[in-house]
Amino acid sequence: MTATVIDGKAFAAKVRAQVATHVERLRHDHGVTPGLAVVLVGEDPASQVYVRSKGKMTVEVGMTSFEHKLAAHVTEAELLALIAQLNNDPAVHGILVQLPLPGHLDSDLVINAIDPAKDVDGFHISNVGLLATGQKAMVPCTPLGCLMMLRDHHGSLSGMEAVIIGRSNIVGKPMAQLLLGDSCTVTIAHSRTRNLAEVVRRADIVVAAVGRAQMVPGGWIKPGATVIDVGINRVDAPQGGTRLVGDVDYDSCAQVAGAITPVPGGVGPMTIACLLANTITACCRAHGLPEPEALTA
Ligand code: NDP
Repeated sequence: MTATVIDGKAFAAKVRAQVATHVERLRHDHGVTPGLAVVLVGEDPASQVYVRSKGKMTVEVGMTSFEHKLAAHVTEAELLALIAQLNNDPAVHGILVQLPLPGHLDSDLVINAIDPAKDVDGFHISNVGLLATGQKAMVPCTPLGCLMMLRDHHGSLSGMEAVIIGRSNIVGKPMAQLLLGDSCTVTIAHSRTRNLAEVVRRADIVVAAVGRAQMVPGGWIKPGATVIDVGINRVDAPQGGTRLVGDVDYDSCAQVAGAITPVPGGVGPMTIACLLANTITACCRAHGLPEPEALTA
């Protein structure tokens, strides 16, 4: 069997187009322009690239982008003061603090200072609790993107066996909550899981979020399963230089799986698209307007 490739890049373009339509509708019908504020502390090159690309896409869909770049030595009090200002700014519907923060800043404290209604990353403890109890939350972007692709591919996920490899707060755990919400039977595997290959072989849906290049071989995949590869790992390329690979060994998994996301061009583009989708959701909720169902969990 050769797997169907789930084209995250094309899907993300479709999501962004839907977002742009909603932005236009909000502006035309209600005189509201959704705004997304991104806060970058320090000069981490990877973070700078992400923030630039987020800002560009925010503007492309017609939203207002607010960028706040703070020096690496900013104090916690200064950062918290900026967050308070953004919380109180009615033009700002979404706030994202780019992680990781420099070591002298307490990430949990900073994230939990964001108004939960503007927490478009879905990392605030209130949103974590709302998601865990099946209530309306702001949902973390990467797992939301994975869920959208899975629903698009399968329709209903009810009753499917899902195995998530990785138990991080930003991917593994919220992914598990979302799949549980869609009535999958969910297993979360991690570095202490025994017989990982056997556990993964049970799955109709495998979500790999480990951070280990090409760790999952095709031999672990049940024939016909859907494989969602969240991993982004930079490795040496055979012809020199480097290339990006996921957490699954794409070539061998694609021989066995029914469907698979590539790296790059799978989950990655969906993450930014879902950030924009969450900003629309936050904006609609702030103004008491119906939120676009296709763009939420
Ligand atoms: P974390 O490092 O926070 O978590 C990794 C998880 O993998 C941990 O739960 C860890 O287990 C588990 N793990 C590590 N080694 C093994 C192993 N040998 N067997 C089984 N489980 C193992 O990573 P993140 O969740 O933040 O990210 C995971 C990957 O996804 C990374 O490659 C990251 O770059 C990528 N990513 C991609 C995004 C995108 O937009 N596409 C967004 C976010 C992340 P334990 O808890 O026991 O240590």
